[in-house]
Amino acid sequence: MLEISNLSKTYGNGVRALDNVSLSIPKGMFGLLGPNGAGKSTLMRTISTLQNADKGSITFNDIDVLKEPRELRRQLGYLPQDFGVYPRMSARAMLDHLALLKGISNAKDRKRVVEGLLEQTNLAKVAKKAVASYSGGMRQRFGIAQALIGDPQLIIVDEPTAGLDPEERNRFHNLLSEIGENVVVILSTHIVEDVADLCPLMAIMNRGQIVAEGSPAALISSL
Ligand code: ADP
Ligand code: ADP
Repeated sequence: MLEISNLSKTYGNGVRALDNVSLSIPKGMFGLLGPNGAGKSTLMRTISTLQNADKGSITFNDIDVLKEPRELRRQLGYLPQDFGVYPRMSARAMLDHLALLKGISNAKDRKRVVEGLLEQTNLAKVAKKAVASYSGGMRQRFGIAQALIGDPQLIIVDEPTAGLDPEERNRFHNLLSEIGENVVVILSTHIVEDVADLCPLMAIMNRGQIVAEGSPAALISSL
């Protein structure tokens, strides 16, 4: 369970990106829907301990996230909006490297973890290829694979399906649903269908505030 209480953040330029945000997010898929500029990425980065808030608190299970960022990072899988530079390394080598950085020091353990993730994300057949050569959908699945290293209990996915074709979007949805059975997954997006198809619970954000919360069936019909 993730608890966000009265979280506020104003940037140096005066933009109030988070305005007293409170949310309780249980296990399963949770959708955060809002237009560009609503504050979703700021909220996702704050939960992921990449950025500080001015005020408020975040707790995940027993962890005070803003005070114990390292504890949270051990349980976090993060798929950022800009996954950034795609390595020329193969997916398999890259996952192995990331698993080592996550502290899986035994080579046999790493191999088991990496091969499992390649299977789960349907990348085993292309695992030898450079991630830089992947299509958008394959990159997203690689992004999920890297986020899942180390069995995170909290997974943050920021704007995942922008630019994916319908088939890839479907694959990505199926993968997320599978993952969401056991852990907290927050899916931040401006695409209504992503939330409607995947998330039993959601919140709508606008101008730094949570403006509605509930089931997609109840909320989306009122949009
Ligand atoms: P903080 O208050 O967290 O220190 P700052 O206002 O100093 O944040 O901005 C952090 C960085 O983000 C700066 O380098 C700034 O240039 C950049 N930045 C400014 N405006 C935007 C924006 N609208 N979107 C994304 N990045 C921005
Ligand atoms: P979303 O993810 O919903 O598009 P963001 O959290 O990226 O929203 O942005 C919320 C608001 O904060 C926007 O007005 C954006 O321009 C501004 N903003 C985002 N990052 C920065 C930054 N680093 N510095 C200054 N302003 C920022």
